Amino acid sequence: MLVDSHCHLDLIDPSLERVDALLQEAAAVGVGHFLCVSVSLANAPVVRGLAARYENVSASVGVHPNHVDQAEPQVAALAELAADPLIVAVGETGLDYHYGADHIALQQTRFRTHIRAAREVCKPLIVHMRDATDDTLRILDEERASEVGGVMHCFTEDWPTAQRALDLGFHVSFSGIVTFKSAEPIREAARQVPAERLLVETDAPYLAPVPHRGKQNQPAYVRQVADCVAALRGMAPAELDAQVGRNFFALFRTARAPRLIPAQTVASP
Ligand SMILES: [Zn+2]
Ligand SMILES: [Zn+2]
Repeated sequence: MLVDSHCHLDLIDPSLERVDALLQEAAAVGVGHFLCVSVSLANAPVVRGLAARYENVSASVGVHPNHVDQAEPQVAALAELAADPLIVAVGETGLDYHYGADHIALQQTRFRTHIRAAREVCKPLIVHMRDATDDTLRILDEERASEVGGVMHCFTEDWPTAQRALDLGFHVSFSGIVTFKSAEPIREAARQVPAERLLVETDAPYLAPVPHRGKQNQPAYVRQVADCVAALRGMAPAELDAQVGRNFFALFRTARAPRLIPAQTVASP
């Protein structure tokens, strides 16, 4: 079963009619589960509400590194929010020096706060890393993030950098960027990441894959991302779908996996 491991349903459209339609469109192309990711303490209740409404939506809690005009999260308060059974991960968190070069110290403190909260509740991290590779990986290491693991979401770096994240115990998730022909180093990473550490995502409403590039992204388009990664790896699409589904529920241990259909019961003699 294909899973969109990172989307922002509430940022595509907060109306529930639209979310209903988005999930149905995704289901029609085989996408069975969605991780809706929080970007601020303000939108965290909305994200949690979607997980409460839809059995196949999971939620996270966290404050994005580029949100500067928020109440700053503290470890205890974040851990309390993250302990909620509907919350399967802490994030998104991380470092973004591309858009946030003027508040690097704040980002680093906030990142450490998220890692400490994740360790306190023993839930995995969703890590955003942009133009900040060395600091991101160093802080993950210093704060012993490998105790809980997590995912390097929307991975946009090369294979040697992916290896460093894998060495810290992290999964690697590819977004629509992998479909851009210019992204050869990312495509090489998508070929090389071990099958059991691979995830795919849309990061909708951002970064629509080819052939939807430039339009608003939506969870159904994870189909194009998955099929591109399958082709790069020489895998059948169905095989890749099954692999990323298994990986998702292995990493996000408290996400509600779809009920398995029981094997046919053998009548006792
Ligand atoms: Zn991100
Ligand atoms: Zn995101």
